[in-house]
Amino acid sequence: MRRFEGRVSIVTGASQGIGEAIARDLAAEGAAVVLVDVQLDKLEAVARSIADAGGKAEAHQADVADAAAVERVVTAVAATHGRIDHLVNNAGITRDGLLMRLREEDWDAVIRVNLKGTFNFSKAVIRTMIAAKYGRIVNIASVAGLMGNAGQANYAASKAGVIALARSLAREVGVRGITVNAVAPGFIATAMTDVLPEDVKKAYLEIIPMKKFGLPKDVASAVRFLLSDDAAYITGQVVSVNGGMYM
Ligand code: NAP
Repeated sequence: MRRFEGRVSIVTGASQGIGEAIARDLAAEGAAVVLVDVQLDKLEAVARSIADAGGKAEAHQADVADAAAVERVVTAVAATHGRIDHLVNNAGITRDGLLMRLREEDWDAVIRVNLKGTFNFSKAVIRTMIAAKYGRIVNIASVAGLMGNAGQANYAASKAGVIALARSLAREVGVRGITVNAVAPGFIATAMTDVLPEDVKKAYLEIIPMKKFGLPKDVASAVRFLLSDDAAYITGQVVSVNGGMYM
């Protein structure tokens, strides 16, 4: 029996990178996966490819920062499936710059998607999870949210925020059978990091004890564990997936 047979999992930012890897992984474990992202064509291609591999996936277009759109997705999923077991708050963006030059719009954009988006989805699913006396929420944070990062004050603050949000919610709903945790990836090879200059990538490699970048599947494995019954008594924690970059 696959680990998540009969479960319904929502993954945000699922049309590429880490979110796509998480969605594929959960589908392979039998979950019906609800993919959320802004670009519907990309999302539908991932959903089709999961279905072609024998999995269950459906695509829902929404900006995670748009509370009304998020509510619509969650209402539709609850109506169709009658349950929401897992939420993975993965959608995230960067708008890098040194603080003294960081534009207000870049601060707002990052906080809006990374932090408010996580709030929106967590709030939207929590009643369904409370009613079921079961739920698993994982927020994708970042090593930057733990150690800070020059040029990423907005991003680091948003990621520290999703950790504090996870811990606060974990305290609120622990008694209801719901766990809320965070996964903090280090440097993972995706489109987000691909755009970085070669000298920046080299500098990261130097501070990673394992001397290699992580892969989306490395993050997906940690998420799979936190969503599984093996992690039933783990809540309010941050699991780092960073090759030792920060410890
Ligand atoms: P990615 O390749 O850029 O994928 C992020 C996905 O989120 C994209 O499909 C993006 O869509 C989507 N998205 C952006 N804004 C959205 C919104 N408002 N509503 C819904 N979806 C939205 O990034 P990734 O590397 O896979 O990162 C995934 C998560 O891991 C992020 O939260 C990121 O901060 C975190 N993380 C990544 C790394 C790393 O090294 N890669 C390290 C630490 C943490 P569009 O492309 O259409 O905008």
